[in-house]
Amino acid sequence: MEAEVPGSTGHRQFVKASLKNGTRLRLRSPGSSRLIPGWRRGAGVAGAALTLLRNLVGYHVFGRKSLDPLYVVWYVTLRCNLSCAFCDDGTGKKYPQVRYPELGTAEALRLLELIREACRSIYFTGGEPFVRKDFSHLLRRSRELGFWPIFVNTNLSLPEPSEGAVRDADVLIVSLGSTDESQYDRVLQSRSGQTRRVLENLRRCARWQAEGGPRVVVNCVISGSRVEDARSVLGFCREQGLWFSPVAENRGVYVDPQLLAHPEYDRLVEEILAAKKAGQRIYGSPRGLETLLRARFFQCYPTLVPRVYPDGDLFYPCHPLRQKAANILEKGSFRDAWRSGRDRFSPMPPCDNRCHLPCYVNNHQWMEHPLEMVLENFRVARQGGRVVCQADGIQPASCGGSGIVMISD
Ligand code: SF4
Ligand code: SF4
Repeated sequence: MEAEVPGSTGHRQFVKASLKNGTRLRLRSPGSSRLIPGWRRGAGVAGAALTLLRNLVGYHVFGRKSLDPLYVVWYVTLRCNLSCAFCDDGTGKKYPQVRYPELGTAEALRLLELIREACRSIYFTGGEPFVRKDFSHLLRRSRELGFWPIFVNTNLSLPEPSEGAVRDADVLIVSLGSTDESQYDRVLQSRSGQTRRVLENLRRCARWQAEGGPRVVVNCVISGSRVEDARSVLGFCREQGLWFSPVAENRGVYVDPQLLAHPEYDRLVEEILAAKKAGQRIYGSPRGLETLLRARFFQCYPTLVPRVYPDGDLFYPCHPLRQKAANILEKGSFRDAWRSGRDRFSPMPPCDNRCHLPCYVNNHQWMEHPLEMVLENFRVARQGGRVVCQADGIQPASCGGSGIVMISD
């Protein structure tokens, strides 16, 4: 079946051309793109609030452990144009050598629809999503389908990010470990000038953010050898009005114990918490930041943020355990693939104190301290951000990365 495809002429032609290439698409009516501004967000907030309420009641009252997703993380590709020292694909393989089967445009568009049937929010990551030639079309289509918020985790190393493509996202997550150009170029293991380009692009995105464009979150991995660098990123974010999202460096799936014992790191954590209190745009609630940065124990609720791989494979209950539920396209339904995982694996495995990633820690906050998180979101709104009923799913290992937290430098 072919339906009218909304959007610009170029986009419409592109999606229609994709239709001819095999996989049949069940395109929705074009209504979603015609919604008045604010509707997508309003529906997204309402949907997230309902999901949260269902989960809170389901878990705390009825003991239900397989909770409904707040947003779906889709690794659209594992290809990347950079090869950062602190990042690999989770199996030890460095970018850009990673090869993994990925979907063609038609199947990717189909997958988007299947995800949308189960969830209102989507988080694109990689690799680097923009190395997919059709990524801007996937973004545009996500808006048409009414996803909110749309997160995009990108290294922002493109020569000049297209404003149109960037504006189709609601939140951009960009990795930056230092503002020292020559030093960070070595970390990126790319040709010199790459850090300068990322900084320039961040400044450009900061301007777009100020004009109502996507919120920009700078993901900063703090390592024992680069505490001062993280401080420089904190300052850069303050200066540009960007959101700062700190993450402690991990060894395997655990926060590096040497980092936790580092007095300079301790001082930096205090500074971050003080800056948060003083009103700087820093992601996460104060309690969540303490848990994240001091590696305090938290109960993980992994099914709140399902992970989908580039070929449409769905993990259950989480990506770090590498348990595949099923392929969503083969099942023809996100929910059926989800049920396959739920029938085989435990939704809340007994984990020790691991996976201190913002997505898991913040979702713990939502499940355990919901009122605190609601207040935090009002604070965020007052600070010029938008109310987001779920936390970001930033990977500490990378800006995109397949994110099983393999930071080893
Ligand atoms: S702590 Fe890590 S491995 Fe354990 S359930 Fe959560 S995400 Fe999965
Ligand atoms: S951190 Fe991001 S840009 Fe760097 S190699 Fe990993 S995925 Fe690529």
